[in-house]
Amino acid sequence: MAVERTLSIIKPDAVAKNVIGEIYSRFESSGLKIIAARMMHLSQAEAEGFYAVHRSRPFFNDLVKFMISGPVMVQVLEGEDAIRKNRDLMGATDPKKAEKGTIRADFADSIDANAVHGSDAPETAAVEIAYYFPALNIYSR
Ligand code: GDP
Ligand code: MG
Repeated sequence: MAVERTLSIIKPDAVAKNVIGEIYSRFESSGLKIIAARMMHLSQAEAEGFYAVHRSRPFFNDLVKFMISGPVMVQVLEGEDAIRKNRDLMGATDPKKAEKGTIRADFADSIDANAVHGSDAPETAAVEIAYYFPALNIYSR
């Protein structure tokens, strides 16, 4: 299986709940390495740009409003099958449908405030990583 990189965001609800460390522990326990990280308070333009693929969806405005409601923790994860592995750790988009023991089942309150973002495919991962991190700030090891 290939070593991949994926873009992860700990969303404002989970940062507010003070569970950055608990979520990082899950990444590390599953073999994913944090190879870049930054805390940011996204501007409206940054959040709209990041979620541009969802621009025509009915929840777009709520999503952007939520993502700029407080600081987020943004990181690049690297490891075998990192994209799927991170999605498995996250659980389903709607925390009510997320499997027990997943990040969203354990820390998320609603489909809006659902604790984490994770890239869904190699192409989107590449675009999303480049959106937040210049190559020289990524420390592969
Ligand atoms: P993800 O890849 O599991 O994060 O889900 P999507 O890429 O489909 O959607 C992006 C984000 O938009 C989700 O994480 C949710 O925060 C939000 N979202 C998705 N679907 C809905 C919905 O039906 N209603 C609302 N309010 N928000 C949604
Ligand atoms: Mg998605």
